[in-house]
Amino acid sequence: MLTVMKFGGTSVGSPESLKSVAEIIVSTEGQKVVVVSAMSGVTNFLVEAADSDKIDCKQVIETFSRKHLAVAEALFDGEQMKAFLEEFDARIVSFEKTLRGDRKDPFYKDAVTSSGERFSSLILSHVLKSMGQKSVALTSAAAGIHSDGVPLNGFADLKRTDADINMKVRPILEQGAIPIITGFYGMNDLGKPLTFGRGGSDYSGAVVANALTADELQIWTDVDGFMSADPRIVPDTIRIDEMNYGEAAELAYFGAKVLHPRTIEPARQRHIPVRVKNTFKPESPGTLIHHLRGPKNGLLMSVAAKTDLSIITISSAEIAYRPAMVARIIEKIAEKNVIIYSISTSLSTVAFLLHNNDVQHTLNQLNSLADTDIEKINVKSDVALVCCVGDDLLDKCGVSGDIFGAVKEVGTNVEMISEGASDSSLNFVVPMETVVSTVRALHAKFVRGKNGRL
Ligand code: ADP
Ligand code: ASP
Ligand code: MG
Repeated sequence: MLTVMKFGGTSVGSPESLKSVAEIIVSTEGQKVVVVSAMSGVTNFLVEAADSDKIDCKQVIETFSRKHLAVAEALFDGEQMKAFLEEFDARIVSFEKTLRGDRKDPFYKDAVTSSGERFSSLILSHVLKSMGQKSVALTSAAAGIHSDGVPLNGFADLKRTDADINMKVRPILEQGAIPIITGFYGMNDLGKPLTFGRGGSDYSGAVVANALTADELQIWTDVDGFMSADPRIVPDTIRIDEMNYGEAAELAYFGAKVLHPRTIEPARQRHIPVRVKNTFKPESPGTLIHHLRGPKNGLLMSVAAKTDLSIITISSAEIAYRPAMVARIIEKIAEKNVIIYSISTSLSTVAFLLHNNDVQHTLNQLNSLADTDIEKINVKSDVALVCCVGDDLLDKCGVSGDIFGAVKEVGTNVEMISEGASDSSLNFVVPMETVVSTVRALHAKFVRGKNGRL
């Protein structure tokens, strides 16, 4: 039995939680490989430092060291502390070099912002050693995680990672040691760290599980599992006991932050079950995500929302009869690696849903088309996409009517609808200022209410 266990920021964020994490690892049967995020707050701190026009490197290193040393001092003493400090000091030297590196390097921010994981992994590995376990802290480079793609938004090269991890991590397992691997990034072709986007350690966990063909991937976090909505905006959410890969992937892609949007695919590829568990309540069964699941009662399983989006509408006479032109538009947008969350067309318009941050370079791309046939481009910013996932949502008669009826009661306007792309989800766009009330209303009516499971 081989389990890949990923622990998030709050799980490794304090001496007490690090001890709980170590106990969870030790009490897990069989071989285990651990992947960690940075301690909570650390990545935000590093993003701020990397983004600022004038970094005070000395100050950043001091604050960063102090935060990690305070945790280490609460956990280790004597010889243990001495052994820890030797490795810690070496990592601080290399962190300083990274921080003082070439800010014009396109991967500079990736290198700086992924530094937190190198320290949380080191601390956790020493906690395990202090409990008499054999453990090795591995950076993504030392573990063999390879990445590809654009700065701050990479993806794993699964083939190369597969070959390399098996060479580097398997022998450690065979010696009975527990590898603790940095999440959030892999090494690109230039030998530089390339991050997987914020929250990317979940994806790292899935990539490691894929490469080692693990029996299970566990995502340990600060909530009871995959819930029926984001507990930060809906107070009375319900834990989902079981979901299939498609449902979890769809919700994660459309805003359920509990899993990084790309987490499911590497696990699904090798049929690896994913379990979402609460570090602070390990006895709770959590959520099991796998191929099949039993039928559920009730209309909705979960509601998620992707915020800070914009709709770009391109008008051109009879565009529906000119697929080549639509193809050219999409090609132009794709050149900048912009994610399109939804597309809808009418006789004379085609509309794209994308992130607010992608609007300007998408408009530049569209202008470079120099297509005299384009009559008008309209941008509507600050909208959100609501994603409803439930059993055969689109097969049941009248479901969309019920859902839009509830949305109407909120008094909001539905700007764009996309249903049918996946048989289990119904997505639509509302203005940002009504997204919270829309999610709450749908949850109250279809998850907790008389049409729901309770
Ligand atoms: P970690 O540091 O463990 O990766 P994250 O903060 O990235 O933790 O993800 C967990 C958080 O995701 C939860 O605390 C919760 O606020 C949020 N969340 C959003 N949608 C959901 C959902 N459907 N189920 C559970 N948690 C969710
Ligand atoms: N530490 C990284 C972040 O905050 C990765 C992660 O937490 O998954 O985005
Ligand atoms: Mg996360």
